[in-house]
Amino acid sequence: MRIDILTLFPEMCERVLDESVIGRARKSGIIDVNCHNIRDYTSDKHRHVDDMPYGGGQGMLMKPEPIADCFDAVARQCSGKPYFIYMSPKGRVFNQQVARELMAHENICLLCGHYEGIDQRVIDSLIDMEISVGDYVLTGGELPALIVTDAVCRMIPGVLAEDVCFEEESHYDGLLEHPQYTRPPEWRGMCVPEELMSGHHANIAKWKRRQAIEQTAKYRPDLLEKAELTDDERKAFFEK
Ligand code: SAM
Repeated sequence: MRIDILTLFPEMCERVLDESVIGRARKSGIIDVNCHNIRDYTSDKHRHVDDMPYGGGQGMLMKPEPIADCFDAVARQCSGKPYFIYMSPKGRVFNQQVARELMAHENICLLCGHYEGIDQRVIDSLIDMEISVGDYVLTGGELPALIVTDAVCRMIPGVLAEDVCFEEESHYDGLLEHPQYTRPPEWRGMCVPEELMSGHHANIAKWKRRQAIEQTAKYRPDLLEKAELTDDERKAFFEK
């Protein structure tokens, strides 16, 4: 899978993408993530990427031509038209399900807006999907694009030490993760649950499943409504 980030601040993205798990996966060639400076696609002397909005209003808007030219240049490097996503507070709210859907695309291109956003004609003619990272407004689309890149890349085989890692984490199967413990077995009078120390794999799996349901009921009861539970689990949790 190839991910391209179109931004006015490529160094900001590179700094994050060079670190930790994603940085290692990039270096070893498991993932192909590239950052492109939209300003490189301006044609005027002062390299303007923004202009005043028609009809007045606060702030500046990103001009359409450099964005479209940057996208066209990226598309020429790909085998087909990349799936083009605009990071926007108006978009579909990002979650694990959206991250999994994005994995179906061979190339995705993430457009980071800045200032007051981008010219609507780019959205109308080029954008396949708009994604929001939540109901709040950020200064730019860089942090949202990095969130999407991270969430998608860690599901690509070989990126995590063990591929099953993410399948046991919160949100993968609609539940939150069970609580986790490491050494020492007792700390400040609090002990690690006996089941986890028992070495009995079936009982440990049962404990983890029960705890995952309990954590979801406690923190996100809205998720539990939609989660896939067995009849026995539903009875145990909803008829308590
Ligand atoms: N004027 C826009 C509005 O009211 O919808 C907000 C523009 S915001 C200051 C600048 C850029 O940050 C946007 O173009 C978008 O790319 C990004 N952005 C801000 N909040 C975001 C969010 N919640 N999710 C995704 N992108 C966001």
